[in-house]
Amino acid sequence: CGKQEAKPAKVLKVGSEAAFAPFEFQDESTKEYVGFDIDLIKAIGKQMGAEVQIQNMGFDGLIPGLEANSIDLAISGMTITEERAKKVSFSKPYYKSGLTMVVKTDNTSIQSFKDLEGKKIAVQLGTTGADEAKKVKDAQIREFNSAPEAFLELKAGGVDAVVNDKPVNEYYIAKTGGKDAKMVGEPLTAEDYGIAASGKNKELIAQVDKALEELKKNGEYEKIYVKWFGK
Ligand code: GLN
Repeated sequence: CGKQEAKPAKVLKVGSEAAFAPFEFQDESTKEYVGFDIDLIKAIGKQMGAEVQIQNMGFDGLIPGLEANSIDLAISGMTITEERAKKVSFSKPYYKSGLTMVVKTDNTSIQSFKDLEGKKIAVQLGTTGADEAKKVKDAQIREFNSAPEAFLELKAGGVDAVVNDKPVNEYYIAKTGGKDAKMVGEPLTAEDYGIAASGKNKELIAQVDKALEELKKNGEYEKIYVKWFGK
């Protein structure tokens, strides 16, 4: 004892489905993972004295990954739901979101959720958007592995609408200059995003909550928010 030994840096393996801009996506030129969630989890890691390693994986693989302990945390625009909270522990909410509908720019027939009846809807597999779309009477649901694939299908004319998270829809529409698609109707849901950990790791989620609180107090959360969403 008494000898100074360098403590190995803690490593946090964080799962994320990095095709959900502006929350997590790959920078086209640097190929690095960037976005609101990525900045936030890095800041949380720093606060906890840990190095964050992002692991890009399918959205529907995140909860199984936590259950199998192949990742420590998941941050992926993931809505806190009762169903998921039976399997994993969630941090305090860190972002307020909700679902909206996206249709082609020239579509005039879909203006409200009711108008989706009997229509073809694209969603992302395993998401709250998929759950919501499945409630629509006589609708034909097409499930894709990522939100960009659902948007592509809309552009190609294979579906009438996409049901997906509002900030992601807004980012897509802005990025494509509003030529392909538009958002219609009121938000269908109010949802909170949370960071998830294995259900057994209450200690880790408590540390994440503490770090999150610290970042809200010291203005770092605000800085990251403004960087990705403006004022
Ligand atoms: N917020 C949605 C959900 O949790 C979608 C998340 C995502 O596709 N990354 O189901």
